[in-house]
Amino acid sequence: MEACICVTCGVQQAPSDEPPGHCPICEDERQYVRQGGQAWTTLTELKENGHRVELRDLEPGLTGVGIEPAVGIGQRALLVQTSDGNLLWDCIGYIDEAAVEAIGNRGGIAGIAMSHPHFYGVMVEWSRAFDGVPIYVPEADMDWVQRSDPAIRLWRATIEVLSDLTLVQCGGHFDGSAVAHWKAGAGGRGALLVGDTMTVVPDVRYVSFMRSYPNLIPMPESDVRKIVDAVRPYPFDRVYGGWWDRVMQAGGIEAVERSARRYLQWIGVLERQ
Ligand SMILES: [Zn+2]
Ligand SMILES: [Zn+2]
Repeated sequence: MEACICVTCGVQQAPSDEPPGHCPICEDERQYVRQGGQAWTTLTELKENGHRVELRDLEPGLTGVGIEPAVGIGQRALLVQTSDGNLLWDCIGYIDEAAVEAIGNRGGIAGIAMSHPHFYGVMVEWSRAFDGVPIYVPEADMDWVQRSDPAIRLWRATIEVLSDLTLVQCGGHFDGSAVAHWKAGAGGRGALLVGDTMTVVPDVRYVSFMRSYPNLIPMPESDVRKIVDAVRPYPFDRVYGGWWDRVMQAGGIEAVERSARRYLQWIGVLERQ
């Protein structure tokens, strides 16, 4: 049968004769199985239900790629254009012909990389729609891949996937949780694409850090410090979170440091002022 997509997280499993019994990503304490139990859908069913990919211009060289109506946890991906090809940063749980054509008109996709397993979506379908382009998965999160594919390339620490576009493994939320540093972003001041490796909160002057966002499990001091240390060497002003309305327009590392300080104060590591 057609490969199943988890209704709750939007991550596609390997094709199977019967729907899989469970979704390991949702059964992990960082996600949740929906009330009413595990449920599956497929690309065909999502299409029949009227879902479509929505593209939005965010700034020169950056396009948001989301789904209307939302699928899974409702994240949007980002298409970053560079002089030697485009990266699809993060993924979504759906793809359609119109999106493939529209992204083809923007130069297509040369590679796919995700911040972490909650955003794996239908990554293999996206790769195959663009000639099997590489899917970059951190070695540390390899076991979270639900549908293996020859396009998957393992990496660790840092990797420059396209010119001036670097993946940085930060850990924390997942061992392989990563950000992408886009040097040309924000008018050349640099942009950090973070998914929820750190998350841009509704007060978009701040980010926060959690082991589980839905289940509100905090992150220990050591992981918060590791994340900030990992991004500090990369100049950036703007921070793109994993959802349409989660963008810190300016503030860069100072805002991230300020956010980390506030977090460490409230978990009792630093003195509150
Ligand atoms: Zn799931
Ligand atoms: Zn997550």
